[in-house]
Amino acid sequence: MNSNQCSFCGRHRNEVQMLVSGQKGFICENCIEQAHAIIKDKISHSGGFQPAESIAELKKPREIKKMLDEYVIGQDQAKKQLSIAVYNHYKRLLHAQDESREVEIEKSNIIMIGETGTGKTLLAKTIAKELNVPFCIVDATILTEAGYVGEDVESILSRLLMVADYDVEKAEKGIVFIDEIDKIARKSDNPSITRDVSGEGVQQGLLKLLEGSIVNVPPQGGRKHPDQKYIQVNTQNILFIAGGAFDGIKDIIASRLNKQAIGFSKDKLKKEEDEEYILHQLNAIDLRKFGLIPELLGRFPVITYLDKLTKETMIRIMKEPKNSIVNQFTELFKMDGIDLKFTDKALEKIVDETMEKGLGARGLRGTTEKVLEHYMFDIDELGGDLSIDEKDIKKL
Ligand code: ADP
Repeated sequence: MNSNQCSFCGRHRNEVQMLVSGQKGFICENCIEQAHAIIKDKISHSGGFQPAESIAELKKPREIKKMLDEYVIGQDQAKKQLSIAVYNHYKRLLHAQDESREVEIEKSNIIMIGETGTGKTLLAKTIAKELNVPFCIVDATILTEAGYVGEDVESILSRLLMVADYDVEKAEKGIVFIDEIDKIARKSDNPSITRDVSGEGVQQGLLKLLEGSIVNVPPQGGRKHPDQKYIQVNTQNILFIAGGAFDGIKDIIASRLNKQAIGFSKDKLKKEEDEEYILHQLNAIDLRKFGLIPELLGRFPVITYLDKLTKETMIRIMKEPKNSIVNQFTELFKMDGIDLKFTDKALEKIVDETMEKGLGARGLRGTTEKVLEHYMFDIDELGGDLSIDEKDIKKL
């Protein structure tokens, strides 16, 4: 080891300002700066997301589902389908790098159907977080056909770019969740009727994003403008997940199944089970009847249904996820030295109250917040343990 020169560039001690010594060598300030720049560049380009380089590195469907289980309660079928679709999607990315490939694997965008507050957004969000890819949520209702008041479909990609810090390469591997896709359904089942600006036009607009093409994206979102600079984004590897409640879809399925939904109560099965049975028969024909155009449906090959949340599931949602409501409030109270507990009966009552409001699991936090309101206000006067039982939960 020569203590008079940099082990990296070979500059002599006289030529540099300082030499930092390591176990087996020296490094000068120039080389440190250069190395720093390389690291910074590498990290900002990958944004922490390193696409898998081999199939062995990819998380398998079972692993993906297991990780979803930590955050999302129930919805087993949806979790399974989603895990497979995501795995296939990233497998497809690997396959696309293979120059000698002869088969093109197409994208498996996903459509999730389920009442509000059943976990559609939560599922998409959790997947993106775990995969460490850029993720954005857009509401389909703000989109309009180009030239009309509202936002162009390209604004979806502006958002994705924004969350990816304008790193195009990173955005091109992201996940987009399009919420309320059912709200852009065609109003009539008859395609030849006069043009439907808010519905069919937007569906047409979405096609080009979904099919994987180079799209000119206005950097700031909103409207496209003739003399604006565009960023070109290739949507080929962006995974689109769409969600919607699709009110009334049950009747459509039931009539396809050639059964009258009303006659069902006579059956031996419980009504709820009937409903679940019908909803699980959902397929693309029903969505088409609902008003999604066939071209759009063709680009969402995976259709999954989220179960209605039962009282039991809602109670589990209160307690079980990693960041469950009970855990969050326990943590908050703990900061003031208070050991907060809920009795089972209290949790049940909170769920009952929330279910009456019809907000799905989304309402649980609000109800709990109300129940704890005065305890939180007087938190400095409380001490030791606090047990919330059903008497604490009055009609809210
Ligand atoms: P939507 O189906 O309307 O997209 P969200 O995914 O936004 O519903 O759910 C709203 C909130 O309700 C979530 O942030 C989460 O706290 C809770 N939630 C809903 N469904 C579940 C579930 N299956 N497991 C755990 N939490 C859930």
